[in-house]
Amino acid sequence: MSTSTPSLATSEGTLFVVAAPSGAGKSTLVNALLEREPAISLSISHTTRPPRPGELYGRHYYFVERVAFEREVAEGIFLEHAEVHGNLYGTSRTTVSELLEQGRDVLLEIDWQGARQIRQSKPDCVSVFILPPSRAELERRLRGRGSDSAEVIARRLHNSREEIAHAHEFDYVIVNDRFEDALADLQAIVHAVRLRTSLQWQRHEALIAELLA
Ligand code: GDP
Ligand code: ADP
Ligand code: 5GP
Repeated sequence: MSTSTPSLATSEGTLFVVAAPSGAGKSTLVNALLEREPAISLSISHTTRPPRPGELYGRHYYFVERVAFEREVAEGIFLEHAEVHGNLYGTSRTTVSELLEQGRDVLLEIDWQGARQIRQSKPDCVSVFILPPSRAELERRLRGRGSDSAEVIARRLHNSREEIAHAHEFDYVIVNDRFEDALADLQAIVHAVRLRTSLQWQRHEALIAELLA
């Protein structure tokens, strides 16, 4: 008599959510992760923030006017949206759903308010919060990046307390002190998620059937 194998299979990809106070190194870490893990797709957000020098439409963000963004909110195109540092940011619902349905892993770089909305609509998401090693280092990185005015930097530093106050809502926390260590931590989370029983059961269906035969 053969034992039946419980169906734990899920064919959808995993949705990763990464947040951090501005300047903690989130984008740099995520870009390095994507080089190592090409099977993850980065969701490109819509924003009303003006582009920084070197930022490209459709590569870093879809830069849109506030009226256009508000119309898109009313049309329901966003899976989540929030106002951050005085600008509107949002994640396109269809892009994320289509990728997940194709079995791709998708990563969102969003703030704590957006992360909270995602947990409501996609409870299986895996969320990661990046902390800087100190307040002084956060300020140093924001200034060193050289992408924002003194006024914008001051606003982002001020807002960092509120962002960090929500770190405990996330599944994982990484301190980005030594970059290579933080990157290894982020990659370890991705690997652990991929070893979850529900995914392994699907991947190794034939093996499990043979072992239980
Ligand atoms: P940086 O990531 O701090 O360098 O600066 P950005 O101006 O690119 O992003 C500012 C904030 O907006 C960050 O805290 C992001 O997490 C957040 N953000 C970016 N895209 C989105 C989005 O699509 N939705 C939400 N809710 N937040 C976003
Ligand atoms: P965020 O996306 O969180 O706003 P960035 O990825 O733009 O932050 O990083 C802010 C600045 O800090 C960048 O100039 C980046 O090169 C630098 N940085 C990131 N991680 C580290 C680290 N571990 N040590 C030193 N500098 C870092
Ligand atoms: P920046 O303007 O420096 O690129 O991003 C500022 C903040 O906005 C960051 O904390 C970033 O994570 C957040 N952010 C970027 N895109 C989105 C998004 O689509 N949704 C939400 N909620 N936040 C976003």
